[in-house]
Amino acid sequence: MNAILKVARIGHPVVRTAAGPVPEGDVASADFQRLVDEMIVTMHEYEGVGLAAPQVHVPLRVAVIEVPASDERGPAVPLTVLVNPVVTPRGDERRPGWEGCLSIPGLRGVVPRFDRVRLEALDRHGRPYAAEAAGFFARVIQHECDHLDGKVYLDRMEDLRTLSFLRELHRHVPDAEREDH
Ligand SMILES: [Zn+2]
Repeated sequence: MNAILKVARIGHPVVRTAAGPVPEGDVASADFQRLVDEMIVTMHEYEGVGLAAPQVHVPLRVAVIEVPASDERGPAVPLTVLVNPVVTPRGDERRPGWEGCLSIPGLRGVVPRFDRVRLEALDRHGRPYAAEAAGFFARVIQHECDHLDGKVYLDRMEDLRTLSFLRELHRHVPDAEREDH
């Protein structure tokens, strides 16, 4: 039985606190496996494309990502679990794009992100993997990994004038980002 977890919003200190690494010996535990399952259920419930553990009041370096196939921003990303991830930019190129966040409900803003990154992490069973990511997948990885350092997308915005309520954005900027992270 997997519970839908309560999402912490900005203002709660857990969103602004750097998370600690998951001890490798804990990965196989029932508690950790349940946390991962409940993060996935919670991400799906709120139709996010990513969720980081501090967003559900757990100060650990864990995130989940899944981008549906219907998404126009790029190829689908299958369900990916990031435990103790390390992200390294590939090149200097950054691109602006709309982002939203389950911890900042109702708002969207334009955020520059590296277009290509290398991701190294453990999967939910503690096995190391590496991936090269580009485009929207790279954007979501950077957004989720920022959460593990107590950062949110507002901190990365270069022009706060783009900060918009989703309702207004749908009326005036039809192609803007719809999902939260
Ligand atoms: Zn977020």
